[in-house]
Amino acid sequence: MQPESTPEAQDLSVTGESGTVLLRGGLIADVESRRLIRGDIAIEGGRIREVFAADDNRGAPASVIDLRGCVIVPGLVNAHTHSYAPLGRHVGPGLPLEPWMMHSWANTIGRTPEETYLSAILQGIEALTTGTTTLLDHLGGDISVMSAALKAYDDLGIRAVLAPMVTDMVLPETVGVPTEEWPAAARARDGVFIRSDAADLLAMTEDLHTEWHGHADRLSVFLGPSGPQRCSISMLEQVAQLADKLDVGVHTHLLETRAQAAIPVPAGERSWVRTLASAGLLTPRLSVAHGVWLSEQDMQELSAAGVSIVHNPQSNLQLGSGIGQLHRWRRHRLPVALGTDGVNCGGSMDMLSSMRLAAILHRPGLADPRDWESPWSVLDSATRGGAQALSVTDIGNVRPGMRADLSAFEMAGTAFATHEDPIASLVLTSYDHRARIVMVGGRTVVRDGIVQTVDVEAAIEQAAEMHAHLMARNSRYADVARAQEKFLTKISGAATPNRDMMAFSAPQEGDVSE
Ligand SMILES: [Zn+2]
Repeated sequence: MQPESTPEAQDLSVTGESGTVLLRGGLIADVESRRLIRGDIAIEGGRIREVFAADDNRGAPASVIDLRGCVIVPGLVNAHTHSYAPLGRHVGPGLPLEPWMMHSWANTIGRTPEETYLSAILQGIEALTTGTTTLLDHLGGDISVMSAALKAYDDLGIRAVLAPMVTDMVLPETVGVPTEEWPAAARARDGVFIRSDAADLLAMTEDLHTEWHGHADRLSVFLGPSGPQRCSISMLEQVAQLADKLDVGVHTHLLETRAQAAIPVPAGERSWVRTLASAGLLTPRLSVAHGVWLSEQDMQELSAAGVSIVHNPQSNLQLGSGIGQLHRWRRHRLPVALGTDGVNCGGSMDMLSSMRLAAILHRPGLADPRDWESPWSVLDSATRGGAQALSVTDIGNVRPGMRADLSAFEMAGTAFATHEDPIASLVLTSYDHRARIVMVGGRTVVRDGIVQTVDVEAAIEQAAEMHAHLMARNSRYADVARAQEKFLTKISGAATPNRDMMAFSAPQEGDVSE
């Protein structure tokens, strides 16, 4: 099957949500069968009505978008992000997660709804222009902050799940250091050493759910405990009960760093995975981000429970957390999704970069190339895998009945010049792939690489001023973060559970394929 050699003048008539829209003549990636099909896609009522051969004339549609010369993939699903990140993109550079978090907390304290809205808009713009149609936002804050992020996603026209990131523990203790061991200078940031009440946090989540879940047929509210080591057992149990009651998913961080793996598990538990199981959270509703330091036993238990794992290779590298063991997750038949993590630790919202890294990062440790990821396998994780992690059944592929969430990339430039393998060109070259058209629920939200729903230039202009204001307001906390960073670095060699906090390296086991 040959792609069109010359992209022709494009008919970019406006697509509405009523009437039939025809996407004409693109090369369509059917992710499930891993085949490219040249054809037309008929869209009606926000869903794909039909996919058929390009020369098959099916009558006059209400509007036509000519996508000859484009490869069309299901809208990408970014299953782990943090929308606070774009307004503090370069906090704590060159640090591992634990000391880095001190800077991230200092940057995000007291975020206003206006700051949250702008940060989520910036995140959404970057996601949409690179072909992502659905994202999961793991965001901390009060209900006004959460609502501001959801309003941003509503305005952008992106599909989004917001999982309020909550913890009822004293945050600095969750890196394994008791409050009394923190020096006075590091404890000067009073608020962080105060415990929140689990019932209040979950009541807030339930209120947010009542207000926003199902809004515009695009927005959802999940539960988002920050991580098992950051929540009491009682809170994890309450999360499981509320998820059942609301019938929604649960998203959490799990075993991201070696330091986390060294934190003692609660009394009577064998592992953090067992801790989640005891609380009733080990179900297909659950998706876990990272899982870099999972044991074989952990993988088996997660897989048996149908839990999805979200691989974030960019942030795992940038924070030096490790590389994860994607081939072992596959062997255990763990459902795998992909994410970028926050742009302040993962670099960008570009899922194509995440896919490229996932495809090539694990190869050096795998002697048998049959264990290697392919462009199609990572595309599958970035689409169908993401849908599964978010417990959604009608996104993730281009087939009749699915929601019309699609991204079309022009097969132009040197990356596609040979026409050999458009999916490999898309995934492996990571070469300026701005989507030409992005549709969410049949609505065109990106055209020629530009988001149509919000004023992109105005948002970018506003960012620098808002960031400067935020930094001035939080300068006291930035000083504290520096003290905390120094403290965490100093204790790294001491006899604490985190004695090798700084000695991050790739997992020792599983670096060679049997
Ligand atoms: Zn994260």
